[in-house]
Amino acid sequence: MNLSLRFSETVKEHGTKPAFIFEGNETSYLQLEGAINQFASSLTDMGINKGDHVAVVLGNSPYFVISLYGALRAGATVIPINPIYTPDEIAYIVNNGDVKSVITLDLLIPLFEKMNEKLPKLEHIITCETPPTDSKTDVDVTKLSIYTKMKGFTKMLSTGNPSFVGPELSDDDVAVILYTSGTTGKPKGAMLTHKNLYSNAIDTANYLKITSDDIVVTTLPMFHVFCLTVSLNAPLMNGATLLIVPRFSPEIAFELVKSYQATVFAGVPTMYNFLLQYDKAQPDDLKSLRICISGGASMPVALLKGFEQKFKVIVSEGYGLSEASPVTCFNPLDRPRKAGSIGTNIVNVENKVVNELGEELPPNHVGELIVRGPNVMKGYYKMPEETAHTLRDGWLYTGDLARQDEEGYFYIVDRKKDMIIVGGYNVYPREVEEVLYNHEEVVEVAVLGVPDPNFGEAVKCFVVVKDDKMTEDDLLEYCKQHLAKYKVPSSIEFLEELPKNTTGKILRRALKDQVLQK
Ligand code: AMP
Repeated sequence: MNLSLRFSETVKEHGTKPAFIFEGNETSYLQLEGAINQFASSLTDMGINKGDHVAVVLGNSPYFVISLYGALRAGATVIPINPIYTPDEIAYIVNNGDVKSVITLDLLIPLFEKMNEKLPKLEHIITCETPPTDSKTDVDVTKLSIYTKMKGFTKMLSTGNPSFVGPELSDDDVAVILYTSGTTGKPKGAMLTHKNLYSNAIDTANYLKITSDDIVVTTLPMFHVFCLTVSLNAPLMNGATLLIVPRFSPEIAFELVKSYQATVFAGVPTMYNFLLQYDKAQPDDLKSLRICISGGASMPVALLKGFEQKFKVIVSEGYGLSEASPVTCFNPLDRPRKAGSIGTNIVNVENKVVNELGEELPPNHVGELIVRGPNVMKGYYKMPEETAHTLRDGWLYTGDLARQDEEGYFYIVDRKKDMIIVGGYNVYPREVEEVLYNHEEVVEVAVLGVPDPNFGEAVKCFVVVKDDKMTEDDLLEYCKQHLAKYKVPSSIEFLEELPKNTTGKILRRALKDQVLQK
């Protein structure tokens, strides 16, 4: 079984139901199936064969959904790319990933024109018209040198065969390659097979009890694995309806939840922070949500509790990574949830905490989290050494430090590489951040290690506060009351906001570079 076949089965059962709603317009499962077939047939006519690589450089839109499922149905491997990447970042992935066709917005055509020389292997660029919500460019594409490579998405849809049947796929064929920075070095392409993606979508949906009654707010970026599995594949495999949001904003999120009586919201912790801070929010605005899903980064306990208390909703934190398609753990719905924990193994997936020798540690000992299951990637594309380093004895080494309690709940302590060593003592940034999140004036916080001539490293903290009268001394005093001396930050810097990536994860790395450049 794979996503494409299961989708067709879902269509038989839920054909007339809306598969997604975008800007007020509904598209039924049957309509979506037709569009997927038409697009797949046009891709095939264009010369995209089984195993060819197609990059999807799009934001959240129906184009993304049709491109993904259409390319999979044509037997291609899809490489989703963040559309706000720089030309060089996009060129790196297109070249390293041996991309034959790119699907993108007409807005981005000038960027591909500029890179044309650098992309010798690229044969076609399929252009989607800019959605009405974005500003139009006045580029005359017929004058560009890459014009000969260009094909119109809408035309491909209208001329394709709605009853197209794609090539046979095997479970082990690569469905998607996700470029991730992983634990070290240059972005690496995690190869996820049809089995990886299918099993994780089904197992996650079962664990979170996603059914055809659900209406899911799809606001995380679709090119990121969290959205791909949790807010796109899992609901679409089960006949649920997606509310496709091009860009997250608290205002739009509240509006959509209320108007469509949404039942599932998935986001990263910073999104929950924005929702909680939104001053026009009313306590019953989210009452239709049966579950809020948090992942992608650690959810500060104070934020989780504050959010659940204000909106009277359930927040279930889970954990995953690109290399595991991504979900490995979630807080259960039918057993107690534990704040600060990423929950327990989802069905079919095993998590284990090990020492440097790969030996399992007893409860409450901190070690590296390793994962095994049908969701674990095939390897990194064209990187055998990196693959051998990350996949060992059938286990995926995550690079995250964790502990497990006696009841089988896992807790992410921090990323291995983010651990700070102050005069020989280990300090986990997350622990310091959790303390500061408990301070009522603190909105956001990021803690990192900086070089220190005496102690090797020192704890440095960046905060966003509500009240600009707060001083560094006030916060340091607070830290001293709640943290051992060596964990107290050596300095605290106030910022208007913290740098984040497009998924909304706080970029400690960018802050570190800023400090090192000074
Ligand atoms: P990505 O491959 O972009 O999905 O990033 C995966 C990484 O995000 C993991 O290796 C973790 O470091 C981090 N992560 C994901 N979920 C959580 C969580 N619930 N708590 C802490 N870190 C998380």
